[in-house]
Amino acid sequence: MSSRVSLIQRPTPLHRLDRLSSELQLDLWVKRDDLTGFAFGGNKGRKLERLIGAALEMGAETVVSCGSLQSNFIRQLGAACSRFGLRCVAATMSLPFSPPRPPVAGIGDAGGNVLLDEILGVDLRVFPDDTWETLYQHAEDLALEREERGEKVYRVPVGGSSPLGALAFREAGEELSHQSVRPFDAIVVASSSGSTQTGLTHWFHGTGTRVIGIACDPEPELPEEFAELAHHLDDLTGVRQSLKPEDFTFLLDYVGRGYGIPSEAGTVAIRRAARAEGLFLDPIYSGKAFAGLLALAESGELPGRVVFWHTGGLPALFATG
Ligand SMILES: *Cc1c(COP(=O)(O)O)cnc(C)c1O
Repeated sequence: MSSRVSLIQRPTPLHRLDRLSSELQLDLWVKRDDLTGFAFGGNKGRKLERLIGAALEMGAETVVSCGSLQSNFIRQLGAACSRFGLRCVAATMSLPFSPPRPPVAGIGDAGGNVLLDEILGVDLRVFPDDTWETLYQHAEDLALEREERGEKVYRVPVGGSSPLGALAFREAGEELSHQSVRPFDAIVVASSSGSTQTGLTHWFHGTGTRVIGIACDPEPELPEEFAELAHHLDDLTGVRQSLKPEDFTFLLDYVGRGYGIPSEAGTVAIRRAARAEGLFLDPIYSGKAFAGLLALAESGELPGRVVFWHTGGLPALFATG
């Protein structure tokens, strides 16, 4: 197994949300991966400790990845590359989609993560909006182009969701277990490319802690990819969880109109968390996940002791244009 570089402060904080707990009649906590202390925070820092470790081990000079233009992953990847003297190239689209194309636009293409990428010097290539598959192809073309120039390239899948990314979140699950003497009944977390949910599920499967993924990407078949990722984790860790797609709770009811498009319930959830707790959430992931948590709590579907896993994403609040 490849080594891990050090990027984040761990453990990230875990604290109770007292006012929302009493409003919702829950014992509600938050795991603050928005406060990793690295590059404006977010869940990708953990994955990057493993991914950059692997890139350095293969002697890479350049890292190529892809994502939406306001990708939190590319921002954190760019910062991690800076830290280790790697070049960072990213294929992006304003709003990659799963057909059919959503009828509305996402958040702005300027400010937010795009500004931070520019400051970092990420080689950001912007392609016309198309499907995720087309975006992956653009990234592969960029990687080949660099290799033809003689550069050694490390390829990172969207969101850092390789087996090593999932391993980082299995380790994050272990971190939470050590932080709280009393186990949680449920973890609610935003889920998209899947290594966050997969790693946590791999760690907590077979315990009393249920991992509830709130989809931020309207693709019902994603749990099949999560199960595949989990099989790689079985191999990496020697822990045979043999997870199947149905072992992943992946709720599609809170995506709204599509990936990258703020939802009404998400906007309400962002305001509620801010006004009750002074806690900021983002419009693409954590706000939608929190909207899911609120809806589940209000319909009595959440058990007593719950942790909301805050995955970060806050620069997206400042997207403009
Ligand atoms: C990437 C991201 C997620 C989703 O994590 P995956 O591992 O890709 O499923 C959730 N929240 C934020 C803020 C993110 O940037």
